[in-house]
Amino acid sequence: MEIRLDGTHYPLETLGPGRRLGIWLQGCSLACAGCMSRHTWDPEAGTVTTVSEVLALWQQALVDGADGLTVSGGEPLQQAAALAELLAGAARLRDEARRHEGSAGPRSTDLLVYTGYEHEELTPQRRRALVGADAVIIGRFRVAEPTRLVWRGSANQRIVALTPRGAARYAPYLAQESAGPRLQVGAGEDRELRLYGVPLRGELAEMERLLRQAGVAFTERSWRP
Ligand code: SF4
Repeated sequence: MEIRLDGTHYPLETLGPGRRLGIWLQGCSLACAGCMSRHTWDPEAGTVTTVSEVLALWQQALVDGADGLTVSGGEPLQQAAALAELLAGAARLRDEARRHEGSAGPRSTDLLVYTGYEHEELTPQRRRALVGADAVIIGRFRVAEPTRLVWRGSANQRIVALTPRGAARYAPYLAQESAGPRLQVGAGEDRELRLYGVPLRGELAEMERLLRQAGVAFTERSWRP
């Protein structure tokens, strides 16, 4: 099955516990004011690949000791069928890897999905797409409700466990504030700078200001119209 991606990154350390494979799906019509990822809105942009190709990345991440998979976007539930296949495949590969670990395991490895939809917007089709996930971080980004809660962009967003594994994994973090860096920096294609994570209010503007002082100016920014 085809899936349209904005990108992938490993190891991702700012969107979920531990070192994770990050997968960003392309396309979001929710258009939250203040979204830092406007480049993911266009459903025709990004790169088309297959779920199998993405699962190959996950398999390699498991070999490399990944602590989990984070699916974000964009809005993952706007590619519901591909997301369902991705999560089902990721859970299967995770369980196979655990079986092979034998006495050395099992390692705790979770599948986390970000969605901007609210709980009451989870239609049966969207709920089915999330069946393989251990937890979701749910709710629109609301720029007027800043937060220091770990992995969340605004105070309304909730971590919701969907499995016993997710409940055990995320219970310590439900009300925890960020202790370490909230953003990771990576290099994308064609002189792109990629930021992974959730900044505090004002951090992106401050970063721009400091870089400008150092003689570095952005030609485009995904957090500005
Ligand atoms: S914050 Fe997330 S849900 Fe909201 S517009 Fe941006 S990508 Fe879409």
